[in-house]
Amino acid sequence: MAAESRDLSLAELIDFRWHRLSFPCVVDRANGRWPGQDVIVGEPSEQYSPLREEPALFQKFALLEDSEAALLDFAARYGYLGFMHGGVSSYGEYLSGWRRERLAMAGAVRLFDALKSGTALSVMGSDVVTRPVVGMTGVYLPADLSVWLGHINVETLIPGVEGTMIPPENDPVAVVPRDSSERLIVQTALAFLVRYSMTHYSVTPSITPDGKVYGAGLRLTFEPKTLIGALWLQLAFTIDGNREYAKCTECATWWDKTGARRDKEVCSDTCRAKKSQRLRSAAETMRGASDANE
Ligand SMILES: [Zn+2]
Repeated sequence: MAAESRDLSLAELIDFRWHRLSFPCVVDRANGRWPGQDVIVGEPSEQYSPLREEPALFQKFALLEDSEAALLDFAARYGYLGFMHGGVSSYGEYLSGWRRERLAMAGAVRLFDALKSGTALSVMGSDVVTRPVVGMTGVYLPADLSVWLGHINVETLIPGVEGTMIPPENDPVAVVPRDSSERLIVQTALAFLVRYSMTHYSVTPSITPDGKVYGAGLRLTFEPKTLIGALWLQLAFTIDGNREYAKCTECATWWDKTGARRDKEVCSDTCRAKKSQRLRSAAETMRGASDANE
């Protein structure tokens, strides 16, 4: 481990490995274990290290289009999520479960983005809902996230009514003092989501060797057991370090933009060279075209 000169990020400390999926497809298990449920199934294939190879995988997942094709493509590249029975089931995973997991992650990422950009007010009423609760303010999550949490049944939702509709008897996920700022309310909701998912998916505190020769050479870290746990852990690391990931305009790789100049758009020197080459030849083509017109 080449760790002498710098501190490893928490994600780099963990060698969490997971399997990609060969030929994932959606099957209707009408006659099987879960009647009438669409299930994603595939054959676990090549191993990879999600936390080391894809530091912004949670963001990729959150931004997926809500379509069968997009979810299957993600499953092929990164494998099962592992949200059922605390691990990978040979029966596959509910497609509806994939949708719910993605909605939950997308909701958490929106809260984080709103906090970072100082626009907590913009998610109030949509991603976070408040109601008075005996002299305090109750913090609620919208209906799709409440279904994900198991706080309400999908059957109690009115089809076609989305977002803020939560049955009145539903409990808040947290209560805060009545005069709390929007920022504190959104922080509280995000903290709840991260705490709930890390606990629910058994992301476990641990200490691990950090490769240093002084001290005990150990650092506090967390170990995921499933891909979905690893994704929430990644989000937690990102929140803790106020990190920012951006998609490279040249190669579409997600790169760590934390501390980089605002206008920097590419992931590496290679892509910077590629970009200036591309701009140069575009300029030459333009010049060629205007010459021909004279
Ligand atoms: Zn790039």
